[in-house]
Amino acid sequence: MDKNIVIIGAGFAGMWSALSAARLAFLHHRHDIKVTVIAPQPALCIRPRLYESNPAALTSPLLPLFAATDIHFISASVTHIDNAAHTLSYSDKNGLDQIQSYDKLILASGSRINRASIAGAEAFAFDIDQAVSADRFDNHLQALGSQPDSVARNTFVVCGGGLTGIELATELPDRAHAALGAGTNVKVIVVDRGSEPGSQFGAEMRQIIAQASDELGVEWRLNSSVEEVRADGVLLSSGEFISSLSVVLAAGVNASSLTTQIDAPRDRRGRLHVDDNLKVEGQDDIYATGDVARAACDDEGRVALMSCQHAIAQGKFAGNNAAAALLGITPLPYRQPGYVTCVDLGAWGAVFTETWEQNVKAVREEGKGIKRSITHELILPPAAEREAAFRQADPLAPFV
Ligand SMILES: Cc1cc2nc3c(=O)[nH]c(=O)nc-3n(C[C@H](O)[C@H](O)[C@H](O)COP(=O)(O)OP(=O)(O)OC[C@H]3O[C@@H](n4cnc5c(N)ncnc54)[C@H](O)[C@@H]3O)c2cc1C
Repeated sequence: MDKNIVIIGAGFAGMWSALSAARLAFLHHRHDIKVTVIAPQPALCIRPRLYESNPAALTSPLLPLFAATDIHFISASVTHIDNAAHTLSYSDKNGLDQIQSYDKLILASGSRINRASIAGAEAFAFDIDQAVSADRFDNHLQALGSQPDSVARNTFVVCGGGLTGIELATELPDRAHAALGAGTNVKVIVVDRGSEPGSQFGAEMRQIIAQASDELGVEWRLNSSVEEVRADGVLLSSGEFISSLSVVLAAGVNASSLTTQIDAPRDRRGRLHVDDNLKVEGQDDIYATGDVARAACDDEGRVALMSCQHAIAQGKFAGNNAAAALLGITPLPYRQPGYVTCVDLGAWGAVFTETWEQNVKAVREEGKGIKRSITHELILPPAAEREAAFRQADPLAPFV
């Protein structure tokens, strides 16, 4: 009888899990091992680029790649996981409930911004967390051009000064001027709890982020948090009210809620604790990878971040190890000691760092070139050609 490896999610972790599992089964001539991906869309959303304009275009089709590598795809959203029965449920495209059984399950359903935690955010805030919400913000930005000139129209408030908030805020002056006219007095304000711009980054990087913000005219409200988002602006914990028609949340991501259906310890962001092979603690047949996994990434006690670079590598290990378990061969422990950061800083350029200490290696145009090669090439799906895709899906193939 066929053995089923089922992967929930077609993001970075899910796509690479599927390719890596299919690769190992292929290398062992095991045509009875079937790899199936279930996700709403047969496309990879390039989430790290959703701060850019025209986010609707930032997806790469996956069906040709899956066809070339014998990976089955079901277009659906999983609603329920039954650990004991080894099944999961989803509604098919006709709205009918379907059950899919699995021998090994890989959970790769990513993360979502938590909009409910801030008063008024559900109703009045934008976000750029998913393609749909980033597209909604982009449409709003374009539509502002037909509204009367006002301070609220021209002011953009980004709530959260982490990587996503910084990339959006530094890109916004250009995007807003394109929509509202070059001569418009655009204001971009980042609200952040930290005591200096980019407080989560290393000292050298913080200086660069502050310098880029100054040059681009991006303001920071530091030691501050958002109390309430309203239709006409945002109230800060300091009592300041900023008039704005465009308040964008860029903080507070939690692991997909499917993690709550698996009986295992989770961290404060909802990520499932996994062992070195990315198997969920206490579960024999369930793996977690990418933003849903809390995984050790080196022997120094570091834990992988909710990031694309970790999701890609983890996907390759999770898929390999799920297939290895069915094949009865030794799994490969996940390790990813290398770490780079590349932050886009809009018209200023970008900053690229290496190591966890974030040693700055390139800035401005040079940094921007590296950023472009990462987001426009390195993280894209491989070509729809089996040999090349399987070569890249090898967990031990060089990557960051
Ligand atoms: C604006 C922005 C900028 C970013 N910048 C960077 C960056 O510069 N560098 C970096 O490393 N990371 C960055 N990230 C983070 C990075 O995008 C994520 O860490 C990465 O996408 C996680 O990959 P994943 O495969 O775990 O999840 P995702 O890429 O989110 O994929 C999840 C998949 O699961 C599917 N799914 C969800 N729920 C279900 C369900 N119920 N049933 C079936 N399928 C489901 C989704 O449709 C999707 O296919 C950024 C994120 C954002 C939003």
